[in-house]
Amino acid sequence: MSARRDGANRSSRIAGFHRRSPAERLDLVAAFAGLDDAEVAHLADMGNLPVVLADHMIENVVATMNVPIGIATNLKIDGEDVLVPMATEESSVVAAVCNAGRQSYDGGFTTSVSGTLMIAQVQAVDVPDPHAARLRLLERRDDIKAICDACDPLLLKIGGGFRDLEVRILDTAGGAMLVTHLIVDTRDAMGANAVNTMAEAVAPRIAEWSGGRVFLRILSNLADRRLARARAVWTTDAIGGAGVRDGIVSAYHFAEADPYRAATHNKGIMNGISAVVLATGNDTRAVEAGAHAYAARNGRYASLTHYEIDAGGNLCGSIELPLAVGLIGGATKIHPTAQACLKILGVSTAERLARIVAAVGLAQNFSALKALATTGIQAGHMGLHAQNVAMMAGAIGEEIDAVARRLVEQKAVRIDVAQAILADLRR
Ligand code: NAD
Repeated sequence: MSARRDGANRSSRIAGFHRRSPAERLDLVAAFAGLDDAEVAHLADMGNLPVVLADHMIENVVATMNVPIGIATNLKIDGEDVLVPMATEESSVVAAVCNAGRQSYDGGFTTSVSGTLMIAQVQAVDVPDPHAARLRLLERRDDIKAICDACDPLLLKIGGGFRDLEVRILDTAGGAMLVTHLIVDTRDAMGANAVNTMAEAVAPRIAEWSGGRVFLRILSNLADRRLARARAVWTTDAIGGAGVRDGIVSAYHFAEADPYRAATHNKGIMNGISAVVLATGNDTRAVEAGAHAYAARNGRYASLTHYEIDAGGNLCGSIELPLAVGLIGGATKIHPTAQACLKILGVSTAERLARIVAAVGLAQNFSALKALATTGIQAGHMGLHAQNVAMMAGAIGEEIDAVARRLVEQKAVRIDVAQAILADLRR
């Protein structure tokens, strides 16, 4: 029997909520929030993600969130043409990548990676002799390697596993800490679960050998042993002249010098990167955290990209950032949309995926800087933004384009104007 949907029951203490089915949970939420039948039916439609799958991916599932996937065209990466699926709710992001790709298509993007190494940290406190303890741990390298590798025979079999050991002494407000880094090749997996398991397995021995107490055992999202890089050259002819080129370089210098600008500069880069990371079922937060931490690695938050003018007067753009993305693990393997997107990309290794993602980040940034240094970004944004505003005003079907067109013509992309235009159209 359905719960009352009048919003009268406003307690968030719902016993056994997690044991209910998604439909039963939705009914309870509807009662809490006073959702009507149409709203409940909308949420209950899980689209192309099977309910059973969704219910096993996270806790307390009641619905799914659809985000559009657009395809970035014009991209040639390491000599190979690729179509890149991008999942994003933000307009202009996909178009920006297509535009940058078109303007650099002849040379395309050249990419590389530093490897597929992840770092797990084990924190030991109250170590009486941190310097000597550090050496005791380093002397146990082979034992530590054996414990780590025993955790994941499958990873070992496909050429991954423990690679190195580092032990750092951190001076903290709580005294000296001994922080052990397990450096693990996680191959085609992002590797969080893989290295976390190793960190937990090795922790009791670290406590024993260091003489301290172990607390945290988890990966670092500053995956600086898993850098992806991309570069591209834009001729002045292709981008509209030396003035545009110089404007882009100046915008880069601004971001290098000013964290207020760099935050927005890098946010634009992540517009591209997170969209591909999400479309492939990878962990957007892990990649975002790694990117921003890397951007601050020299003590001041700065740009993830660089722009220079080469000897021939061309604009050279480059990017380098940690990209812990995989083809195995997390949602990558189980989400049918992620699987289809990986097939569109045609990638068979995590390395190739990371290289493509880096190229998309650079492409995004190039287009954003070009727009900012010339016409401003609003001109490009307004077309799609006007459509959103038209929909917010209640436009449906063919009305959406008609209202949006008139909003742009009138140079007043506002909801009140959209409502007036819609009323006029319907008259
Ligand atoms: P996973 O544990 O699901 O899969 C990795 C495992 O797959 C490997 O350990 C290996 O045994 C096996 N495998 C099979 N074929 C492989 C191949 N070709 N290459 C590599 N491994 C192969 O996933 P994971 O990548 O260890 O963890 C990713 C998940 O962890 C993501 O969902 C992420 O959101 C989550 N997570 C993230 C954080 C964080 O970023 N701080 C923390 C915890 C969990």
